[in-house]
Amino acid sequence: MRSLIYKELGVVEEGQSPDPTMPIWVRVEATGICGTDLKAVFKGHKYFVPPTVLGHEFYGQIAKAPAGFKYPVGTWVVVAPYYDCGECSWCKAGKGDLCTTKKYVEAGSFAEYEGVPEGYEDGIFVLPEEKDPANYDVYALTEPLACILNGTRRLETIKGYSKVLVVGGGPMGALFALYYSQIGIDVSIVEPSDERAAKLRSFGINTVKFEDVKKGEYDNVVLAVNIGSLVKQYLPLVRNGGTILVFAGLPKGEVLEVDAGAVHYNEVSVKGCSGFALDDFRKAFDIIKADPKRYRQLITHKFGFKDGQKAFELLRQGKAFKVLLGSEY
Ligand SMILES: [Zn+2]
Ligand SMILES: [Zn+2]
Repeated sequence: MRSLIYKELGVVEEGQSPDPTMPIWVRVEATGICGTDLKAVFKGHKYFVPPTVLGHEFYGQIAKAPAGFKYPVGTWVVVAPYYDCGECSWCKAGKGDLCTTKKYVEAGSFAEYEGVPEGYEDGIFVLPEEKDPANYDVYALTEPLACILNGTRRLETIKGYSKVLVVGGGPMGALFALYYSQIGIDVSIVEPSDERAAKLRSFGINTVKFEDVKKGEYDNVVLAVNIGSLVKQYLPLVRNGGTILVFAGLPKGEVLEVDAGAVHYNEVSVKGCSGFALDDFRKAFDIIKADPKRYRQLITHKFGFKDGQKAFELLRQGKAFKVLLGSEY
């Protein structure tokens, strides 16, 4: 089948990859490019070694399924790229994102088809009826929003009291802010690029400059940029009793500088999160379904596999928010 192959460090190219071997096939309409994909291509990633096919933020249509499968061929769906087993000690404690026996789809979804194993029905969500299938593109944001909901579970936000500061106005930072403002939490983004800040404001998101962040103004600070030194920089600014969330991925072994006084006397917590639990995915799906317009504005570009390299470059240069890739575009 046609795919976008991650060929070597820095290079993606349209090519062929093996058809799925799993019993259920989803024809992938589009896949969002994730920060992890970007990092894998330009910096390398120990789990994604080229040549390989990346991509996990996808939606499409059931294309092939065994007789008696819950959803008929042609059904539009968004599929969780993985989900928690529901039975291990983490899952039973409501910490499904930490499950070590997750179920997975077959491979990367920058391809015509994605394979789904039998017994995966809980990870498949049927999209609401739409006259124009292009309107389904917003569901590529289900997985990133699920990761954000996982992050929000680490933060205590109190209406009328809490102020959230998101550091970094990339696609994830913007998604954080869109969600918090939707539920009535005061949220702002620190974004150094004037061009990006202007775009964020066009989405209805409040932006601030670092110089204008006052000590104690924000009780929750979300680091949506993968720079470890931001912990040291922002910790003294967090309101007493607040939390700083290390949301963007940082490498194993990197040591963060944390002032003990801030943690002890000021009761500021440093927390992290990674991925999502199936519950987050389900909630993200419902949130997008209830207000697709709000989230769709984040999708700034769509490209076919032939323009895959261009799509990755655009993101690397910070010139796009969410970029979708599809074999039919
Ligand atoms: Zn993702
Ligand atoms: Zn589990």
